[in-house]
Amino acid sequence: MNILLLGSGGREHALAWKMLQSNKCSQLFVAPGNAGTALIAKNIAINPNDFEAVKQLVLAEKIEMVVVGPEDPLVNGVYDFFKNDADLVSVPVIGPSKYAAQLEGSKEFAKEFLVRHNIPTARYESFTAETVEKGYAFLETLNAPYVLKADGLAAGKGVLILNDLAEAKEELKNMLVDAKFGSASAKVVIEEFLSGIELSCFVLTDGQSYKILPTAKDYKRIGEGDTGLNTGGMGAVSPVPFATPEFLAKIEDRIVKPTVAGLQKDNMDYKGFVFIGLIKVGDDPFVIEYNVRMGDPETEVVMPRLKSDLVEIFEAISRQELDKISLEIDERAATTIMMVSGGYPEDYEKGKTITGIEKVANSIVFHAGTTLKEGEVVTNGGRVLAITSYGQTYEEAIAQSYRSIDTIAFDKMYFRKDIGFDL
Ligand code: ATP
Repeated sequence: MNILLLGSGGREHALAWKMLQSNKCSQLFVAPGNAGTALIAKNIAINPNDFEAVKQLVLAEKIEMVVVGPEDPLVNGVYDFFKNDADLVSVPVIGPSKYAAQLEGSKEFAKEFLVRHNIPTARYESFTAETVEKGYAFLETLNAPYVLKADGLAAGKGVLILNDLAEAKEELKNMLVDAKFGSASAKVVIEEFLSGIELSCFVLTDGQSYKILPTAKDYKRIGEGDTGLNTGGMGAVSPVPFATPEFLAKIEDRIVKPTVAGLQKDNMDYKGFVFIGLIKVGDDPFVIEYNVRMGDPETEVVMPRLKSDLVEIFEAISRQELDKISLEIDERAATTIMMVSGGYPEDYEKGKTITGIEKVANSIVFHAGTTLKEGEVVTNGGRVLAITSYGQTYEEAIAQSYRSIDTIAFDKMYFRKDIGFDL
């Protein structure tokens, strides 16, 4: 079958790589894709949020399934667009409906869902400009540090963690009254700070049953020792060594089962990935956030560990027959290290020639921000390449990724040398 994948990052290269291993995939289109997807699939230069353009492509290329990588098209309603169009209704979209996508698109919506379904999460309240005074009063009932979250999507920048009460009040005012994050901070969720170590759990669901994919841990900060500015993610490890079978059983019982049951109870149409951001407090898991798509760079370690046919899984999801599938997982560890443009996540240059990718023998090079310029692969974003390796242990896999990185070069490249340091 012909399949269309929306998106252009390392996550999409990894999903494309995995789907192309299926003999059910005859042709794969990626919109807009990157230099990595151009090597294995057909890139189409359209914006995934331009649903009319997506429709024309689906009809012209007889596409029979659409897989959505990033959150924006989902939050903007691509699933519903297909469902409500007579020409597209027979083409399954892998993702949630617009309503269910609010689990990522609105932090208040997600918190209400969590509380309604008794899923462990930090205590919270939400506020608007009209109730800012009540927000100050709520802050006074909490202990430092203070967690303020813009309700809407803010490109990963909408969460502030502050140590000082006066500063927290000031920032609350900035968000609500002075629109620090535009309309995304017209509402702010204030929540209790949870202290622990984070990990991510990935679930596939057809809205009725679910399958749990391997866990992963990503490294968000730009600097070693997890310091400095937040990024999209600088590396990832799977499985997570501290996620013991007992802890995983708690995640499944207390979080995954009630989440999928909650989707059903709330009549949320959901046929895709659920990414559950968790924090381990003592021996107990709490939900920090839901995302309605895979993580990046976690996809670059989770997909390589999935042995089952991903296209078959997506077909089962679209028919609501996921219960008939059993997942096969590679026992080896997988790790990925992100190579980024110097300056990222602030200002950086693009268009730098990348050399040495073809010399990498024992790792998989997933492209993130790359493009082809006169036949050459050049940098085209902050996060440039994700270098994934397998190992019997995560230490072995990390060492292999670093050896592979030694053969790759571009001007001002940077990567963290301590991925996995805290495990
Ligand atoms: P992302 O960029 O991962 O999509 P986001 O901007 O959607 O994140 P959250 O994941 O809710 O927002 O929060 C960002 C980060 O802030 C979390 O990964 C976690 O490190 C920290 N954080 C959020 N809520 C809490 C909390 N209640 N206690 C402690 N830390 C928290």
